[in-house]
Amino acid sequence: MSQDALVKRQFGHRARLALSPAGVLKTDDQAHAARTMWNLLHAWWQMMPKEKRTLANADAAIRQAREDIGFLAVLPAQAAQAVLKMYFQAWKNCWDGRAGAPNFKGRFRTVMSVDIPQGRDLNIVRVHRRWGMANIPKVGRVRFRWTKGLPVGKHANADNRITGARLIKDALGWHIAFRVQTLQGKPEPHQGPDIGIDVGVSVPIALSNGERYEHGEWLTGKEKDKLLHLEQRAAQRKQYRKPGEPAGRRLHHTYGQIRLNRSISGEAWGRTVTMLAYKTARHGGTLVEVPAAGTSRRCSACGHTTPGSRESQAVFVCKNPDCGWSGNADYNAARNVLHLYRMGRALIPAAGRAVVRRAKRVKPAAAR
Ligand SMILES: [Zn+2]
Repeated sequence: MSQDALVKRQFGHRARLALSPAGVLKTDDQAHAARTMWNLLHAWWQMMPKEKRTLANADAAIRQAREDIGFLAVLPAQAAQAVLKMYFQAWKNCWDGRAGAPNFKGRFRTVMSVDIPQGRDLNIVRVHRRWGMANIPKVGRVRFRWTKGLPVGKHANADNRITGARLIKDALGWHIAFRVQTLQGKPEPHQGPDIGIDVGVSVPIALSNGERYEHGEWLTGKEKDKLLHLEQRAAQRKQYRKPGEPAGRRLHHTYGQIRLNRSISGEAWGRTVTMLAYKTARHGGTLVEVPAAGTSRRCSACGHTTPGSRESQAVFVCKNPDCGWSGNADYNAARNVLHLYRMGRALIPAAGRAVVRRAKRVKPAAAR
């Protein structure tokens, strides 16, 4: 494979760290020092006149702080540099409109983390089928669960390597997120036919060629339990309502909660579309979205939208006297999606191979 047929790909890989109690304390201290460093930088920034807020001046200020404030020395110099870089990046993100202005980091609302910006400092070795060892600066060699082929040792080279890592503490303790860079074969442009896709919230993904795909669970187990519980409660409250009486405040609240929970499945829908776009691109295709309006009411056989055509959720029956086609409703919608794309109705104009219908999102009632 020639060099120009390869593309760089960057991804993260997380693994839990098996730190000793002393190692946990040392890493905690580093994270507190990193947060303090950030806060010192922010205070410095606010004090400085605009023209003196340069990277070189900030660097000098944090070097001075590391000499003056004893406990900041626990933070490795590379990690301190990473804080500086991240702080300036935060301002850049703000100026480019991607994020709000940086702020002080509070003791309890900040995720504890330490950056290891240089991959070579990690000195990763696989010691067992299931365990790897990494060097955590100023903490020592630490074991981590080996779950995936990381490019280390003889598998590492200039193009396939670990470029750095970040230590992050969550409810279960410290883990390490490796930054992995690989060079992979570029996919050949896809030569297959255009396919229309209908993605509903509660039905399988329907394709215009008649195929159907089950997608993963929209809601997590917990979300599902909550939704079920709310629906049961609404049914219960309805029982106590006398006929003709308007729904009470509590029932209204429960309905609102149900709608809010259903909107979560709308988010899951977005995740599926994102994944679809990513997978399509990796196989040389393109995903294009078209507007959803009318795709479930139009007959894909005759092209007419006749009033009363859609009979039920599952079956589409055309009421046009000259047509009378009937079939699976989602298949019909997927064919309409493809038709819209061929008519140039793409929301993002691009030469595409796959088309997806934008489903209606449920707006949370309780918002605002
Ligand atoms: Zn028809």
